[in-house]
Amino acid sequence: MTKHRLVLATRNAGKIEEFRRILEKIAPGVIDLIGVDQFPALGDVDETEDSFAGNAILKARTIAEKTGIPAIADDSGLCVDALGGSPGIFSARWAGVHGDDAANIEKVLGQLRDISAEKRGAHFTCVAALAIPGGAQITEEGTLEGDILMSPIGSHGFGYDPIFRPSGFDLSLAQLGPEIKDAISHRGQSLRAIAPRVALLLDGLR
Ligand code: IMP
Repeated sequence: MTKHRLVLATRNAGKIEEFRRILEKIAPGVIDLIGVDQFPALGDVDETEDSFAGNAILKARTIAEKTGIPAIADDSGLCVDALGGSPGIFSARWAGVHGDDAANIEKVLGQLRDISAEKRGAHFTCVAALAIPGGAQITEEGTLEGDILMSPIGSHGFGYDPIFRPSGFDLSLAQLGPEIKDAISHRGQSLRAIAPRVALLLDGLR
């Protein structure tokens, strides 16, 4: 069987690991996921849109057109009720430096210092996007509800996982580990929703 080649439009190591794991489970041996690092001349895509969907499409479309290969991307983030939905699309650089997970966590915990346990509701959102060079683009969204813990705990995952407790669990995402996270997460949901549509589109290109 010929594998479908797909470029994964992200340099976030935590996301790359989750994409590979989740897609391999949905469609074992079907997708050959190529990292953008295989294209050293490609610069980073600036996330200039004002929504998760806008940025996910921007990343997938830009990389698909630059490489000539179908590209998949996500834009995701943490939305905290008591912060009016922030950090939202700014989650990766909330404390100023892109991808500084420890600083981002510290900033959110500082902002919630005086907020009691019942008022620490939050959710993760993920929009997955696929773009075909010169062709179609599709998106699917996933959401994970939960709340923000008082302090970080757990060693799995990435980003805000150590301070996020999904609804119905007593542990943080970083304690629950990859199998449970993939089954319930915003990224797992969006990838499971988009995978059959990706397969249909890519089969049509053969
Ligand atoms: P993006 O690359 O602009 O989509 O940035 C997403 C950012 O949101 C990440 O760098 C994390 O800070 C946060 N984030 C998104 N998904 C997750 C997750 O599954 N766990 C923890 N943090 C996440």
